[in-house]
Amino acid sequence: MSAKELSAEPYIKGILQGDVVLLSKAITLVESTLEEHRELSAQVLEGLQEYTGNSFRLGITGVPGVGKSSFIEVFGKRLVEQGHKVAVLAIDPSSSKSKGSILGDKTRMNELSTHPSVYIRPSPSSGSLGGLTRHTYESMLLCEAAGYDFILIETVGVGQSETAVSGISDFFLLLMLAGAGDELQGIKRGIMEMADALVITKADGDNLTKAKAARSEYAHAMHLFQAEESGWIPKTMICSSVSGEGMQDILSMLSDYKNKTTQSGYFAEKRKQQQFKLFEQALDEEVLRSFRKNEAVKNSIDEVLQLSKSSKVQPFVMARKIAALFLNTEK
Ligand code: GDP
Repeated sequence: MSAKELSAEPYIKGILQGDVVLLSKAITLVESTLEEHRELSAQVLEGLQEYTGNSFRLGITGVPGVGKSSFIEVFGKRLVEQGHKVAVLAIDPSSSKSKGSILGDKTRMNELSTHPSVYIRPSPSSGSLGGLTRHTYESMLLCEAAGYDFILIETVGVGQSETAVSGISDFFLLLMLAGAGDELQGIKRGIMEMADALVITKADGDNLTKAKAARSEYAHAMHLFQAEESGWIPKTMICSSVSGEGMQDILSMLSDYKNKTTQSGYFAEKRKQQQFKLFEQALDEEVLRSFRKNEAVKNSIDEVLQLSKSSKVQPFVMARKIAALFLNTEK
């Protein structure tokens, strides 16, 4: 890294001017695990703080094949037509195993990705869910500072990543197929509870009638999940990325949500709560990181490992002892 690249100032200036190359470089810094990169990205983020937050953060989930990327392609174009600058980010903890990040496949979102008002960033190909959540959150802040006012955060609806995406988005959209059955789609009740809207995809051709029937069925179930705090009743809709059916309704719904929750104060309140939760998670991770790096701790764990080969150890007693040892060495 050159001396220039080690200073936060060029990044801050460039990002504020909407420089996509510097934005991408800053996101690479955010994704890096090197201490000097983390330090520098923290400075960049601090310098940009007052320019962040001015976007609508839309989380999108659904099983592979439900039509997420097709939806983003069509929906993203509508947003651009309305004058928005759109950034698409992904949380995909499966990508290191499946060797294919959800946004990594270059053939997806072909047209959208070449639009000058659109920035698409694939998920890094490895990392813990906690790490991916931080990268995505911080990348989102960088995109906001660069002027992107609509952020789409995509994840695969299998596993823990929906909770992570829902924890950083203003509105959480669950895409589902008609007639596949909840079980088949791997959609757990918990994900439906998190969703602010459920959208049945591929509502076109022969599938339109089925999609409408599924909408009625799910609408019934979704009514039970009314979020008391926001006052928002989760919606159930249909859409097609082929015919464009439902796209305008989804846009109107999001704008309705934004207006209602901004007026009630819930929009800002939710973000504050999300921030505090992220802070708590990050604090836990930082403490764990320093704990695991501590030499005395490492040695003690090695000792326990040796002991456990020959005799019985008391796992809880040993863990308490090592934690106490760490606190003493850190004093
Ligand atoms: P993802 O894995 O959730 O991102 O799903 P894709 O967007 O890649 O879509 C999976 C398959 O469904 C592809 O073959 C798409 O062409 C098809 N597909 C997606 N959306 C629609 C739609 O609205 N209507 C129809 N008929 N097919 C669709």
